[in-house]
Amino acid sequence: MRNIVLVTLDSVRADHCSFMGYHRETTPTLDKMARKGLVFENAIAAGVGTPASMMGAFTGLFAPLTDEVNPKIWRLEFDRRKTLAQVLSKLGYSTGAVVPNTFASSYFGFNKGFQYFQDFLGSGTKFYERIFEKIFKENSKITFFIKNLINFVLRREVFTPWEKYYEEITDWVEKTKEPFFLWILLMDTHFPYLVPRKFRKWSSFLSMYRSNWKLQSVNFENRLTERERQKLIDAYDDSIRYADEFVKRLIKDLKDYDPIYIIHSDHGDGFGEHGYYMHGFVRNKAVGLYEELIHVPLIIYNTDIKGKIEEPVSLLNLPSTIMDIVGQNSEFSTKSALRSGNTWVLIRTIENGQIKVAVRMKNWKFITGQKEVDELYNLKEDPHEQKNVINEHSDLAENLRNIAERYIIRQKPEAMRIIRDIQKIKLNKSDKHAKEV
Ligand SMILES: [Zn+2]
Repeated sequence: MRNIVLVTLDSVRADHCSFMGYHRETTPTLDKMARKGLVFENAIAAGVGTPASMMGAFTGLFAPLTDEVNPKIWRLEFDRRKTLAQVLSKLGYSTGAVVPNTFASSYFGFNKGFQYFQDFLGSGTKFYERIFEKIFKENSKITFFIKNLINFVLRREVFTPWEKYYEEITDWVEKTKEPFFLWILLMDTHFPYLVPRKFRKWSSFLSMYRSNWKLQSVNFENRLTERERQKLIDAYDDSIRYADEFVKRLIKDLKDYDPIYIIHSDHGDGFGEHGYYMHGFVRNKAVGLYEELIHVPLIIYNTDIKGKIEEPVSLLNLPSTIMDIVGQNSEFSTKSALRSGNTWVLIRTIENGQIKVAVRMKNWKFITGQKEVDELYNLKEDPHEQKNVINEHSDLAENLRNIAERYIIRQKPEAMRIIRDIQKIKLNKSDKHAKEV
């Protein structure tokens, strides 16, 4: 069985990767991998935000339909599900992960099936965990600030440059029995976009800090000038190039192990195109199911399969795809992206109790639940989704609306179960955190 390396680049949108047509050369290494490997041109996230998308990518099923970012709900749900790491582990794989993102940590149950799981939450972090829980409880600016300050000082989470933990990865590989499944999530591409000096190509020290600070100070609202926005994009593009450098070094260092690489992102980031920046979440900012958030890069490299797949695939197809490329039967309910035959995929999210669903085809996208009117975009002619053509193509819109509505109806039992889960957690008096949930 082949070794497998899964690299998740947090918050990288497809249209900012040069192999996906971006005008800047942000991803020279990924470009080479794309030329020699397999590229999914229409890969769609399994959710907006890391926990929702990555739970989908590891289990083949959408994350719980709730907008309560409560780690307990996530852990409970992981308990019920089979995960990719768990299945590979049973097949005899050594499984390891290095994940400097609390939202994909053991705190959320992402360690299930991993024999080695480095999420940097180790011992001595009780204080930090309390701060973290307070954020979920209060969503307050002060606790958010304290958390960021701690992270900044300790160079943790979004402030962890990959060079800081790189050797932990290669150390694990060296002492691990083959075959192995290794997952690495890079936070370098997540806001704030901070890049070490020698990797800066489009931004400078001052413009990088100033633009990141500015966005934070306007509370992530759409209040940046065109110049400030461009400076922020410069820093973001540099951060992608810095993450690309990680992949370059990893491929060189793991050469003897000849692993299959799967490189992807969990979701994108907004830069004001539709009135929002980043991807919402902690501060309950409304975001949309637009391309900047849901269209992600996805490459499979170092297998016999080469070329481009234009049909839409979802990250929900990822576990079966990985089973497929290592020649194993899949135990996951969603199909392999190599043989899905999809003409459309779904993505859904929930915000303030409102379900939003998008049906994404290769050239068209339908969205319901997001605005007062449903939306239909012709992605070929209007890739930035500026012109709602729902009235001009009412037959197509009707078909796609039926798909979305059938899906929403099918979700009702699950939605009810999630509500019961949340109530159960809230009523659990023996739990010392019960009041905080
Ligand atoms: Zn993320």
